[in-house]
Amino acid sequence: MHHMTLAEIARGLADKKFSSEELTQVLLARIAQLDPQLNSFISLTQELALNQAKTADARRAKGETGALLGAPIAHKDLFCTQGIRTSCGSKMLDNFKAPYDATVVAKLAAAGTVTLGKTNMDEFAMGSANESSYYGAVKNPWNLEHVPGGSSGGSAAAVAARLLPAATATDTGGSIRQPAAFTNLTGLKPTYGRVSRWGMIAYASSLDQGGPLARTAEDCAILLQGMAGFDPNDSTSIDEPVPDYSASLNGSLQGLRIGVPKEYFSAGLDPRIAELVHNSVKELEKLGAVIKEISLPNMQHAIPAYYVIAPAEASSNLSRFDGVRFGYRCENPENLVDLYKRSRGEGFGAEVQRRIMVGAYALSAGYYDAYYLKAQKIRRLVKNDFMAAFNEVDIILGPTTPNPAWKLGAKNSDPVAEYLEDVYTITANLAGLPGLSMPAGFVDGLPVGVQLLAPYFQEGRLLNVAHQYQLNTDWHTRTPTGF
Ligand code: GLN
Repeated sequence: MHHMTLAEIARGLADKKFSSEELTQVLLARIAQLDPQLNSFISLTQELALNQAKTADARRAKGETGALLGAPIAHKDLFCTQGIRTSCGSKMLDNFKAPYDATVVAKLAAAGTVTLGKTNMDEFAMGSANESSYYGAVKNPWNLEHVPGGSSGGSAAAVAARLLPAATATDTGGSIRQPAAFTNLTGLKPTYGRVSRWGMIAYASSLDQGGPLARTAEDCAILLQGMAGFDPNDSTSIDEPVPDYSASLNGSLQGLRIGVPKEYFSAGLDPRIAELVHNSVKELEKLGAVIKEISLPNMQHAIPAYYVIAPAEASSNLSRFDGVRFGYRCENPENLVDLYKRSRGEGFGAEVQRRIMVGAYALSAGYYDAYYLKAQKIRRLVKNDFMAAFNEVDIILGPTTPNPAWKLGAKNSDPVAEYLEDVYTITANLAGLPGLSMPAGFVDGLPVGVQLLAPYFQEGRLLNVAHQYQLNTDWHTRTPTGF
């Protein structure tokens, strides 16, 4: 039962092959048995799950239908869940029970999903390895000595290990696509504004975007359908109709123009990944796509720009966690300054403190022009590169990451080495574009992802290309040994 995709579960429930309650029991037992190896959950919500499953079964019995009605999922632990701990992977929020549901959580619950729990993540979504979590590192089910990617590492490891079919995640600089690549999943970061950020604890507000992590493009279409849409509570949410994503899966790729940026194949890329990317290009050519070399000349500036803008926004967003308004409060403060200092010093981990310091520095009076303003100018150049490229091609294709998942601890002493691994994913966030990562092969037994980028609101095109690719390849069906 645990091997089923969301699409298969929807068919099974509709055909009354099993109930949502039965499936939920199976998955909860599987999580109890296998998650101790992975640490992919921060909280389990068994009672809520069984109640939601029973409700979904009752709705189906009354004749209601829907692809998500009775589907078990989990939420990354930065989506607020009413009455349930929402920790953001931090000691700061270890005892925070959200007073309301995030829009994404509420929409999915209304569609009938069953919440099995809240998944582990890098603290405040800062990281690419899921090692900065207050609740400990997450292991990659493909090799327990390796990281699953981050910051949505818990969602990725759980879905890859078949503990559940799909999960929500968020992507500020790659946190959906990179863990998808590292664990052999399909992950989609939507256009900025497509999915409501209301109730999603902010890291960098102009970059953050929620999206689905699943095993197939077909399942990403189903989950995105339940997440996307205008929300008056989020002023950056965009009032555009949501297309039928599942209906977009079956379009022909005949004549589709795919751009492959020459800058993607420079020195830092593992040549074995480069070869797998070329193989995926050949596969898509067989399906009728036309390949064109393109250029994204400002790509080299994206990492420094991102690692100024994201910490700058984080330093502002995280100022509310001060032991007074929100978050952990230290014991026996001597005075107000001591209370602030120790609450933040004890409540935030090292990486979060580093980002707050970098961000506050970049925004300070003497350095604003030199760092923050310059980074914003680069952001515009990166966007302009994409706009020019999309005049010539329909999709941009390349590697999701320069290397496969590294060993746990390998980059702990060198944060910049970890930042550099985000080179292919952060540009989509800087420009606000949608991006998808799909499984495309293995290196040393570790999964490799190919990234597709599309113009604004063309999530359907990304899902279409990935689905057609998945109909003709079987990388996405491979299962990690032991799971
Ligand atoms: N690795 C990037 C960072 O640490 C992106 C994280 C994310 O997308 N949340 O900022």
